[in-house]
Amino acid sequence: MTHRLELRNLCRHFGDHCAVDDVSLTLRPGQVTCLLGPSGCGKSTTLRIVAGVERQDSGTITVDGALVCDGVNTTPPEAREIGLMFQDFALFPHLNVWRNVAFGLKGTKASQRARAEALLERVDLAGYADKMPHQLSGGEQQRVALARAIAPKPKIMLLDEPFSGLDDRLRDDVRDATIAVLREEGTAVLMVTHDPSEAMKMADEIALMRDGRIVQTGTPYTIYNSPVDRDAAAFFSDVNVIPATVDGALAKTPFGAFLVPGYETGAQVDIVIRPQHLKIEFFRHGHGPSESATMGAAAAATVRRARFLGYQSLVDFDVEGGPVLTASVSSVFVPKPGTQFWLLAPRKHCYVFPK
Ligand code: ATP
Repeated sequence: MTHRLELRNLCRHFGDHCAVDDVSLTLRPGQVTCLLGPSGCGKSTTLRIVAGVERQDSGTITVDGALVCDGVNTTPPEAREIGLMFQDFALFPHLNVWRNVAFGLKGTKASQRARAEALLERVDLAGYADKMPHQLSGGEQQRVALARAIAPKPKIMLLDEPFSGLDDRLRDDVRDATIAVLREEGTAVLMVTHDPSEAMKMADEIALMRDGRIVQTGTPYTIYNSPVDRDAAAFFSDVNVIPATVDGALAKTPFGAFLVPGYETGAQVDIVIRPQHLKIEFFRHGHGPSESATMGAAAAATVRRARFLGYQSLVDFDVEGGPVLTASVSSVFVPKPGTQFWLLAPRKHCYVFPK
């Protein structure tokens, strides 16, 4: 059985400040949806409203079409069949592992223990039932917390940066294991994070939040490659910005003219391109860029500075008539300052936004 969560026009003010501003979102059954945005944009407040530990001023929440709350009528948190995993997931220190997992379960002691042991097996902790929390590593404790969260078979699971306390390598493992278990259970997952790479790794769908509003929703691929505005582009990586003025539906840049229909002559626009989308090609005197280069737009560029980062190199280029542009290139390649290249900006990766 898979489940569906719908948020419609949720609003929440704290005094004059609108923390959640007309948020609507549909979680598809069995999918992981990620609320992503900078600190203070309203992610946790939205999650807390869904959990029922914060109230909304207006708007509705439904699970499988049934009203959970509309700001007036509200189902108490414990009756919502919604599970929670927060960063401070704190296991009960005085209870052993199986009693922690069985905490919210009904039935005889024997049936509770049997269910707890089955859940511990699901999270790869068979044989840990009688250990105490302090005998476990951080990653093991997190998996006990997951077993405890899925024990009551919640329809929806809410994750509020639950992996941020773990070190990098462990975080990847625990995160992947957690999502795999939740997918198998058919639980719809709503998670919040401020970390774009975490959202890209985990989510089927990302809802990008800013100032209390969802500004864009889409798959990681769509949201990365078709950002809705300059800030949305810049949230996922550094960006190069080439300012330009529109003249007869064209914006002239060192990379040639960009067709910008819909803009009036005289309008100021920004052409935005990610460092990893800029390509470089060796410059040979007396030769233009190759055919593949001219498919995009090429500009002669001179290396100003190159930084070796291990997994890649970041190279700053001077381009005549334009700003300094940064390209990320393969780490085996660290060009010397003063070297000339063709710098290519494939049109499909250049975004045009009003200034
Ligand atoms: P973070 O990633 O730092 O946790 P967030 O995106 O989850 O941030 P929220 O915690 O939802 O943001 O907070 C949104 C805004 O609402 C912030 O400006 C915050 O200061 C404010 N806020 C949250 N809870 C309260 C409260 N109980 N009283 C007053 N203001 C609040």
